[in-house]
Amino acid sequence: MQNFLYKIQEFMRGRYGFDELNKTLLVLSIVLNIITRFVYNFPAHIIIQVIALSLFVLCVFRTLSRNCYQREKENSVFKPFYEKVRDFFKITYKKFRDGRTHRYYKCPNCKAQLRVKNVKGAHTIRCPKCGYQFQKKIR
Ligand SMILES: [Zn+2]
Repeated sequence: MQNFLYKIQEFMRGRYGFDELNKTLLVLSIVLNIITRFVYNFPAHIIIQVIALSLFVLCVFRTLSRNCYQREKENSVFKPFYEKVRDFFKITYKKFRDGRTHRYYKCPNCKAQLRVKNVKGAHTIRCPKCGYQFQKKIR
């Protein structure tokens, strides 16, 4: 086992590896592959399968690529979009998780998400990020 891991390490030396763009490509290809299980329409089925396979091949190509500079450039273009989507899902999950005990507000000044205990009455909320204060009423 140790020898096998060592060989993989040697193989990956100087290669780009895995990043946010590769993660997204892999997830998209898996999702499309699952979708093809439910699509029985002949040409659409083949098209979706080809797209899923090409995304997977692109993911493998990027992971094994030795042109790290170019791969990093691609990832830096993609990363802001990835982080926006990731943060949206994070906040949505948190809102769902503490929906009964807390409320979420956006800071009017810096747009940061603020979590406030769900207690009835008027509250002065202070943003810990920028220090801005604003009023909210919880009924
Ligand atoms: Zn703020």
